[in-house]
Amino acid sequence: MVMKTRDMVSKLPINQILSTIIEKGLETDANFIHLEPANDLVRVKYRVEGRLVDDLEVSKKRFSSLSDKIKNLANIQTGHIDLISTGKFKYSFANQNFNIRVYIMLTINGEKITLKIQNDAPVSTSLKELGFWGNSLEVINRAINLKNGLILVTGPNNSGKSKTIAALLESIDNQDTSIATLEDPVEYKISRANQTQINHRTNLSFINGIKILLRQDNDVIMLSELTDAKVITEALDLVIHKKLVVSSFNIDSAVETITKLLDYNINPASLAYTLRVIISQRLVRRLCPDCKQYIDLDKDTASKINKLFGLNNPINMSYVHRLEVEYYQFESDDKKINSKLLSTSENRLKKVWTNNPSGCLSCSNTGFKGRIAVVEVMKNSQEIEKLITTKSKDILINKQAVREGMVNYLVDGLIKVLVGETSIDEIINLTKSNHLA
Ligand SMILES: [Zn+2]
Repeated sequence: MVMKTRDMVSKLPINQILSTIIEKGLETDANFIHLEPANDLVRVKYRVEGRLVDDLEVSKKRFSSLSDKIKNLANIQTGHIDLISTGKFKYSFANQNFNIRVYIMLTINGEKITLKIQNDAPVSTSLKELGFWGNSLEVINRAINLKNGLILVTGPNNSGKSKTIAALLESIDNQDTSIATLEDPVEYKISRANQTQINHRTNLSFINGIKILLRQDNDVIMLSELTDAKVITEALDLVIHKKLVVSSFNIDSAVETITKLLDYNINPASLAYTLRVIISQRLVRRLCPDCKQYIDLDKDTASKINKLFGLNNPINMSYVHRLEVEYYQFESDDKKINSKLLSTSENRLKKVWTNNPSGCLSCSNTGFKGRIAVVEVMKNSQEIEKLITTKSKDILINKQAVREGMVNYLVDGLIKVLVGETSIDEIINLTKSNHLA
């Protein structure tokens, strides 16, 4: 992105300052725009593919009119700001409609405004396009077509949970299924669902909403997040009432979800009985398809990968090789895979995909384009039910899940490096952010 000087933007009429700021965000697929006040100017930053990119600047003098303009559009009272003020407005650009949510907070330098961009069109992405494949995808497809049960999508903030849930609901086979949602906030339009926004002012909470939905003869109920013990209990109760419940939970791994839920004093037996699948995911940057590189493995990269995945151990190496083969079998529907296509052999790593450091025109010289999820999908089973009921340790449940076919999300990430979807540094970064959490 090219930095514009403060004067260039600030001289425009207010309407044009706003449209320049928003449209820059839409053109670059940003999901957040930050207007951050500093001493003498306001910096405009864009969240693109998970990274914050500094771009425009607006003079402080013009900013107060710009802020009033945004407040007017979003129905926020001008003149005074509560601790935090929120609102939203619609914006049309390139034949598409967007919802822009506005969050304003007072800082010591003035108002900090965050704009959250949401596309108003239904999610058209499939689970496969999001990064689900092979056994994981089959497990999810079976679960989403069950008559009842609990399906959870987990991961930290900004790990793409809402989009996965939207794609999950869109992929239900049975067209006669009645789907209802309670969301806070509504993130994506879902063409097949009756979507409801939680509204604390009118007392429409998750708990009150669930009571109404129960009377409305819905088959599938989506709760955007299991926020507290009460909502978790109600969600499990819905399953007992023969509903399929899809929800999300803010936690790092599939197995940790179980321990964390039990920390809320949930009856282990009812969790074991109702749980069907836990999906855990993270987002990594996707390699630009136009300039990505397939390179022979150098010593440095090899040692990074070996350290993280223990590939010096022949059992681990052959496991990764088998998964790589499975990935191509899934992609091509052909059981015979040409071994020349593979980055691994049975006993060693041969090649690896990586980003082109200087990039190309189609990826704005970054080497990456869009994001892909790295995932782990844990299916409940008789054995796992027993482990949940007896409140077994994470590590034991994890072991059993892997024995039954679950691929750990870091391993899923490695497979995506081997087949050219992302770079090894993106996967290594995940382990670092995990450490900090
Ligand atoms: Zn490129």
